[in-house]
Amino acid sequence: MPSEPLLKIAELTSHYGPIQALHGISLEVNSGELVAIVGANGAGKTTLLLTLSGVQKASGGSISFDGTEITRMASHKIVQSGICHVPEGRQVFAPLEVEDNLKLGAYCFRDDKRRLSEELERIYQLFPILKERRKQPAGTLSGGQQQMLAIGRALLGRPRLLLLDEPSMGLAPLLVEEIFRVVRELNDSGVTVLLVEQNANAALGIADRGYVLETGRVILTANADELLADEAVRKAYLGH
Ligand code: ATP
Repeated sequence: MPSEPLLKIAELTSHYGPIQALHGISLEVNSGELVAIVGANGAGKTTLLLTLSGVQKASGGSISFDGTEITRMASHKIVQSGICHVPEGRQVFAPLEVEDNLKLGAYCFRDDKRRLSEELERIYQLFPILKERRKQPAGTLSGGQQQMLAIGRALLGRPRLLLLDEPSMGLAPLLVEEIFRVVRELNDSGVTVLLVEQNANAALGIADRGYVLETGRVILTANADELLADEAVRKAYLGH
């Protein structure tokens, strides 16, 4: 019998006052998968991740994670259950040192100094540039390095599901490649990833499966390579 998906979203709706941003989204992420959600500006990608994290409240439908209903759970409980979110625009604390930004992600074991330094070392191995710059204010890092910092901070929560909101935003093509290579490596090392992106080419290039979102609805889902080859998807989202 196939095992239950790690994340199961059914008929999820979400509103900003009278504006309905999600119109009955259903999707699944299996343990170990890298799933990409692609769609244009305003499709509802950020709202979907915010609703998964409990920051934006669902107005209907359900979200279950590892068999537990989390639809109306408080955000900090959702983090404790193993979902960590890298927000759109990175949102690092610019005046704080790189290492202090990382420590904010290690809140759960802040009093265990040995564990803290082991966990920081794990992130520094993944992103050596952050170790070099650990005493610099985060605001002095380049956009790509800030993205690494935001991902590193989320990884300190030891996520079982990592939510990534537009990691390519504002980055030069070479840095996009670098970030996506690391995301793929993280996934290969066992972290399940749900990635939302306007850069459909880059996202589907590393994903196992994908969903296409349009005006708050899933309009298509398939294996990532099938979506990359789909003529309609190429025309609408891949600039071909
Ligand atoms: P982007 O790539 O621009 O972030 P997106 O796919 O993430 O786009 P959302 O930001 O989730 O899309 O927006 C989905 C819909 O919800 C849009 O119609 C948007 O205008 C609306 N929306 C988003 N945030 C708010 C808000 N705070 N108040 C009112 N409407 C909002």
